[in-house]
Amino acid sequence: MPANFKYIFGPIQSRRLGVSLGINYLPPKSCNFDCLYCECGPTDKRLSVVTSFVGHQEITAELDQFLSTAPTLDYITFSGSGEPTLYRDIDKIIHFLKANYPQYKVALITNGTLLQDNALLAKIADCDLIIPSLDAASEKVFLKINRPNNGLHLSHIVLGLKNLEAQFKGKIWLELFFMKGINDHPQEILAFRNILKTLHPDKIQLNSIDRHPAYQVGGELSYAELVAISELLDLPNIEIINKREN
Ligand code: SF4
Repeated sequence: MPANFKYIFGPIQSRRLGVSLGINYLPPKSCNFDCLYCECGPTDKRLSVVTSFVGHQEITAELDQFLSTAPTLDYITFSGSGEPTLYRDIDKIIHFLKANYPQYKVALITNGTLLQDNALLAKIADCDLIIPSLDAASEKVFLKINRPNNGLHLSHIVLGLKNLEAQFKGKIWLELFFMKGINDHPQEILAFRNILKTLHPDKIQLNSIDRHPAYQVGGELSYAELVAISELLDLPNIEIINKREN
C-alpha cells in the first residue's frame, strides 16, 4: 500500500481476521478506557462523547482509492488507536462500503461501552462481524484492568452485550483478554462463567498479551494457562487466540 494514506492501514495478517484492511480515524490515543494491556499505549485523550474527528468523505476517498484496485481481503476492520464507536459518522463509512464494495466483509472491534445505545446499534447494523470485549466479571477487576472513564461500570458492558445480541443480525465474537495476576484467578473465572452463561456469542475468544502493553503490570498468559481457563469456563464455542508456549 502507498504510504500516503492517513485513515487506512495494512492490509495486515490478523490472527483472528486473516487479511485485514484497517480503518483508523482516531487521533492517538482516543478512548473512554485506559486498559492496562492496550497495545496503543496509555490513553492521551479521554473521550466520553461521540465526536467527529474528520470528515467521513476523507476516509471514504482513501477507501475508494485503495479498494478500486480490487485487493484480496478477508475483512475491512474498524480498529486502531482508540475506540472506533466514538466516531459520529461510522455509519456513513459502513454504508459507503456496503453500497460500493459489497464483496468485502466489514468487522468492528469495540470495547462495548456504547452498545446499550440503540442509535449506535442502528449505525453499525450492516457490519458482518462485531468483536466486543469483556475483560472482567467483577466491578473491582473492571476498574483495575480497563481503567474506564468515570461513570462507566461493568453492568453497562454486560447490558450492552445483551442489547447487541438482541438486535444485531451478524456474527458476534466476544473477546476475553487475560493478564496474569489481574483477571485470571479462579474466583474471577467462575464469575466470568456466570455472566457468559447469560450471553450467546457465536464465539468466545480467549486472548492475552502479544505485544507491548501500555502499562508494565501483570503479564501474558501462556497457551496452557488459557486452556486451563477454557476448561474452568466449560462453555461451547471457546477459541484460544494467543498460542504462546511461554
Ligand atoms: S478499549 Fe481498546 S483502545 Fe481503548 S484502551 Fe482498551 S484496548 Fe486500548
